[in-house]
Amino acid sequence: MTPTVNQEALRSLPSVNEILETPGFAMLGDIVPHEFALAAARDEINEARRSILAGRETAPTTEEISAAALRKLRLMNQPSLKRVINAAGVVIHTNLGRSALADAAVKSVVEVAKGYSTLEYSTQNLARGSRHDHCESLICTLTGAEAAIAVNNNAAAVMMVLNEFAKGREAIVSRGEQVEIGGSFRIPDIMAYSNATMVEVGATNKTRLVDYERAITPETAMLLKVHTSNYRLIGFTESVSNKELRQLAARHKENGGQDIIVYEDLGSGVLLDVEPFRSAGEPTVSSIIAQGADLVSFSGDKLLGGPQAGIIVGKKAYIDRLKKNPLARALRLDKMTLAALEATLRIYLDQEQALRKIPTLAMLTETADSVKKKATNLQKLIAKAIKPDMAEATVVPEISRAGGGALPMFDIDTFCVQVVFTKGDALECDRFLNQQLAVPIIGRLKKEMLLFDARTILPGEDEEIAAGLSSYFKTLEA
Ligand SMILES: *Cc1c(COP(=O)(O)O)cnc(C)c1O
Repeated sequence: MTPTVNQEALRSLPSVNEILETPGFAMLGDIVPHEFALAAARDEINEARRSILAGRETAPTTEEISAAALRKLRLMNQPSLKRVINAAGVVIHTNLGRSALADAAVKSVVEVAKGYSTLEYSTQNLARGSRHDHCESLICTLTGAEAAIAVNNNAAAVMMVLNEFAKGREAIVSRGEQVEIGGSFRIPDIMAYSNATMVEVGATNKTRLVDYERAITPETAMLLKVHTSNYRLIGFTESVSNKELRQLAARHKENGGQDIIVYEDLGSGVLLDVEPFRSAGEPTVSSIIAQGADLVSFSGDKLLGGPQAGIIVGKKAYIDRLKKNPLARALRLDKMTLAALEATLRIYLDQEQALRKIPTLAMLTETADSVKKKATNLQKLIAKAIKPDMAEATVVPEISRAGGGALPMFDIDTFCVQVVFTKGDALECDRFLNQQLAVPIIGRLKKEMLLFDARTILPGEDEEIAAGLSSYFKTLEA
């Protein structure tokens, strides 16, 4: 049944000019180009007309239409991608952009973005250069690999390696390593997409060398290992090391078989042999290379703490082939990412400096005592900014997470400022801090409380959090 349309309501809708003459629009003046203001007013009137045609009985008032149009104009003038304050305590927060860059990396990005650069030009040879050259020797120095190439992200790296070496052939992978990384990245799917046939071996909890050995056929191109970065198999388990796989591939070759590549998708990409990575069981890239893996790939913006990238390291003959694969062109890094990656890697040349200057590493290795000092400072700022009858802020021990599908079993002791509400409530305050501030604040809700984890809060952001809370409580007074 078609709804009865209130013709009177339709007739009473204001004209575009009437909207433009409302005080709100008059106040816009020249801030918004006339065409945009006109379009916003027209859209809102059309919206009202549609709702009346769909059965709405009364027309919205001129003021209501004007206010709705102004809200949309204001949103349009705001950036969508913007800085936020991560007070959630997840260090590598994928939804919040994973790793914050080191100052030197930011400086390098700005420098390269502002003007022209040596992206594909060699000032040594006064001739065309390759964008792959900027990071390669640094990566090799830091990982002990013969050669390296960096692409868009690690998912792209996996796809490119499978496409180059296993397309139309077989790759053997353990059933215990059928990983799904967040955001629909599944090893079996990537395999299928790369036209590689996946040969699964072993059981979910146990895979032995003989399982791989028995699965080898003349069609086998690769023995693939996938690091279980976002989960751990614990209990009655067994897996095969890169070293054993490399030896197996070598024996196969000695017995007259084909070359078989041993490749590990390492995921996280730890470069330093330090705590907490050691006790969390995160192998370094160089340890995997030292075991003899032919190729290893990992992310640039997880535990490495750089920009989004996928880094592939390994034997020169294989990396040379990857550089010639058409996907290397499609998945290549842009100049800003290369600038950030090179600067981040350069910091790693001094381990002590890396732990201090790369925010992801600094946050993951900061002692609980040191975080407690920051939390205490934040608590004081908040206590000063809000009235005691509104809410109470205290410092409490909590757990931070590494995030980014890294160190899944690893609890990081931390300290949070916990806000208990007398006026208003945590849910509403959380919404306000997300939606009403120029720089949104992402805290952590826990029961009826809102928590701010001092571990992931960057210098200077504590004042912004205190100011944000103060604005929230002011809205309650008004
Ligand atoms: C994170 C991860 C990926 C995907 O890496 P991106 O850089 O996010 O594309 C692939 N494999 C493993 C094992 C991972 O942990």
